[in-house]
Amino acid sequence: MGNYGASTASRNLPSLGDTIAAIATPPGEGGIGVIRVSGALAFPIAERIFERASEASAKQPPSKAAFESHRIYFGAIRDPCTGEMLDRALLLTFRAPHSYTGEDVVEFSCHGSPFLLQRVLKLIWREGARPAQPGEFTQRAFLNGKLDLAQAEAVADLVRARTESQLRAALYLHEGLLSRAVRPLNEELLALLAEVEATIDFSDEIGELDREAFACRLHRLIRQLTELLQRAQSGRLLREGVRVAIVGRPNVGKSSLLNALLAEERAIVTPIPGTTRDLIEEAFQIQGVPIVALDTAGLREDPDPVEQLGIERTRRAIEHADLLLVVLDLSEGLTDADRALLATLPAGKPRILVWNKADLVPEEMPLPSLPAIAVRVSSLRGDGLPALCEAILQGVNLSGVGEESLLLTHQRHVQAVEEARQYLQSAWQANQADLPPDIIVVDLRAAWIALGTITGETVDEELVNRIFRDFCIGK
Ligand code: GDP
Repeated sequence: MGNYGASTASRNLPSLGDTIAAIATPPGEGGIGVIRVSGALAFPIAERIFERASEASAKQPPSKAAFESHRIYFGAIRDPCTGEMLDRALLLTFRAPHSYTGEDVVEFSCHGSPFLLQRVLKLIWREGARPAQPGEFTQRAFLNGKLDLAQAEAVADLVRARTESQLRAALYLHEGLLSRAVRPLNEELLALLAEVEATIDFSDEIGELDREAFACRLHRLIRQLTELLQRAQSGRLLREGVRVAIVGRPNVGKSSLLNALLAEERAIVTPIPGTTRDLIEEAFQIQGVPIVALDTAGLREDPDPVEQLGIERTRRAIEHADLLLVVLDLSEGLTDADRALLATLPAGKPRILVWNKADLVPEEMPLPSLPAIAVRVSSLRGDGLPALCEAILQGVNLSGVGEESLLLTHQRHVQAVEEARQYLQSAWQANQADLPPDIIVVDLRAAWIALGTITGETVDEELVNRIFRDFCIGK
């Protein structure tokens, strides 16, 4: 069944012949630094440059016995041409196919000096390896069938995870949970495709397409894809973080609120790279869910030109936010300026009214009634913050969200499922309209190709290259 139009990855991708080497640990000084070598020359290079400890110290000539697989050797890295010792190090050995890449792999655990590591790496290159491209080790693992594409992407996610939910999503993906959910759907799709094709090629023997039965099976597939997509929205938020914009007129306590939230949720993570620095932005977690909060510039009615710029940014931040925290001053109540501001906020954008400065009014004072979730807080004293945190999760439907939402967290995977569903819907319509099977087959095949890009069953070279170029060198 390999001839359905998609090129399989292993057919089109670059040859695996050469041996690659790179530093696998991060740049800078460290306790140890690891150099990874993969390919046919990995063991011959190790044999030339690595001297086992007993040989290094004893007077007898070095043993010529080959390194065994899955062993750790202690010894010296030596330039075979000059005899100079570069480091005392550990050598880890993995013979194909039982290695990360599926090829022969050796790893040198050296002392973690960038200068030392560069010298060892250059020696390994001189001995016949070439510099590895970003993600090339994992790409080889994919091409050699050690991992499917979604699992390979999980490797990059694991390395980058900054919060509990990102880490869990990465681990699930790496374990193959998404692949296992998608594969049966793809198999059913392939079976359908084969059946419809058979009615085209052998209609004399097997008769016409049973359109009712076909519609039924197609409908089930569409429903399963739709269920996957419904979970995707919360999956994206869990993985990428919930973008919360803090809005309100000047002096209601926006900055104080942000600081209070940061103090409340101590597990602060580093800011997500690539996000705007124009507005004050802080990242933290609520129950393991990453939150990116923006403190927007004050929204005024009559801005001068300089402020206009800040207001434009605020508008954009509001547009891109998943949730708005509208801060109001409880000691002043709902002012005309608040009403005007509320009127400008995009309808349909989830929002929470945060009545701040609760410490200035009697506890029993009721909140002004407005149609939105409202929370009473004092940023000064920290009152009401746990309730606000719970409301934030509720506001984006993440309160008590199950682990199963972490299945579909990559935009690429979501797009693949969406595309497959669209093609299946189009096939369904064609079937309802009694269009000929060869028209239906075109949609089925396109759906199969789209869905197969998740695991990499159907994927082209360009996409694979793009995915792995996102990795770091040495991974
Ligand atoms: P922003 O302009 O909306 O960012 O407001 P700020 O956070 O700068 O706060 C404006 C003023 O209100 C400051 O003097 C804060 O100390 C004060 N403030 C903020 N939150 C509270 C609160 O919960 N209670 C009281 N009493 N004062 C507050």
